[in-house]
Amino acid sequence: MKLRILSLFFILLLLIPAFAFADGSRAVIANCKEYVTLRKSASSKAAGEIRMPLGEQVTVLERMKNGWAKVRYFDRTGYVPDKYLAPWKETAYTPRKSASGYPVYCGNYGTAKHIEDRTVVVAIFADDATTHWDLSKTADQKLQLRNRFNLSVGCTWLTEQTRRYRSDPGGFVWDWLEHSDLYYTHTFTEDIIHGVNNRQVTNAIVGYIHENIPSRKLLEEYGADSIIYNVYLNAPNSQDYRSWTNAVLYNAVEPDKYVPEFCVIVPYGRGRENNPATLAHEMLHCFGAYDLYETNPSSSIPQKYVNYLMSHKPNDLMNRCYFSASDIVTVEFSEVDAYYVGLTDTCAAVKKWGLGPTIFQRWPAN
Ligand SMILES: [Zn+2]
Repeated sequence: MKLRILSLFFILLLLIPAFAFADGSRAVIANCKEYVTLRKSASSKAAGEIRMPLGEQVTVLERMKNGWAKVRYFDRTGYVPDKYLAPWKETAYTPRKSASGYPVYCGNYGTAKHIEDRTVVVAIFADDATTHWDLSKTADQKLQLRNRFNLSVGCTWLTEQTRRYRSDPGGFVWDWLEHSDLYYTHTFTEDIIHGVNNRQVTNAIVGYIHENIPSRKLLEEYGADSIIYNVYLNAPNSQDYRSWTNAVLYNAVEPDKYVPEFCVIVPYGRGRENNPATLAHEMLHCFGAYDLYETNPSSSIPQKYVNYLMSHKPNDLMNRCYFSASDIVTVEFSEVDAYYVGLTDTCAAVKKWGLGPTIFQRWPAN
C-alpha cells in the first residue's frame, strides 16, 4: 500500500511540468537535438519564423492553455511548445572580489558604444593553457610590435571612415608604448586558443578584465566613452585558429550587467599574417557591425543577402575574415556597416534586402 502511494506520487511528479514559467521570466531552449522552430501561432502547423538553437535564451511572454508559450527571441516574437523550455540559470561571470570603481556601466551597447565617440583600447598580452609569449625573444618582440602596427593602422582607418559621416570623430587611444596603463599581461589557465566563443573562456576573460583593469578610471583619464579590450595570443600559424570577438550584438542584452566587449587576436588567419584589416573587422563588431559572409539566428542579416554578397564578391570589410597585408587600403566601409554601427538611421540595402535592426534600434537606450 505504502509502495503504491509512493509510486503514485512519482507518477504525479512526472506529470507536473518540471518548471513553471512566470510571464516575463527567462528560459533556455532545451530537450531538442539542434533547434526548435519559433512559430507564428501556437500550433505545430503554423508557419515557422526562425530556428532557435539548443541553449539559446528566450523571454517567456505568456503561457498558453494548450501547452505552448509565447516567447521573445531577440527581436522576434512567436510560439513554442512548453516542453522545449528549461529554466534559465545564472551562468554569467560573478566577480570574486569587487574592486571599487573598476567595472563600467555598459548600458544596452556593451563597453563599446558609439564609434564616433572616443574609445580606449586596452592591450592584454595573454598566455593560456597551450600558448606562451616569451618577450625576451626577438621573434616575440617583433610579433608584439606587428600587433601594435596593425592596431595603429586599423584605428586610424576606422576614424577616417567615421569622418565620412561625422565631422569630428573622437578617435582611439590605443598606443600602449605611449600610455603604459593600457598594457597588461596575464596567464590564463583556460585553453583560450581552442575555445572560440566558449562560455567558460568568455567568462574567464570577462572575470580577468573585471578584477584587474580599472576601466572606469581609464575612461575618465582619457575622456573616453567606450572601451575595447584586445587579448593577444601568441598562437602558431595554423588553419585551426582565427581571431574572434565577444560583442553585445550576438548576445541577449542585460542592461545592468557588465559586458566587456573584447577581441581575441591571433597572429595568423588561414596561414596569412595578421594585419590591420583584421583588427578593424574585429573591433567593428564591438560597435555593432555584423559579419556579412554568414548569418545565424541572432544576426540581423538574412541569408538571401549573404548569398547575394557571396555571388557579387563585394569588398566590404565585414564580408571577409581573412585579409592580405595591404587590404586595409582597399576594403570598403560600406553603407551597411555605417548603418549597423549607428552612423545612419537606414540605408538602401535595408529595404531592398530586408536587413534586420541595429543594436541601437533593437535595444533603444532608456
Ligand atoms: Zn567577424
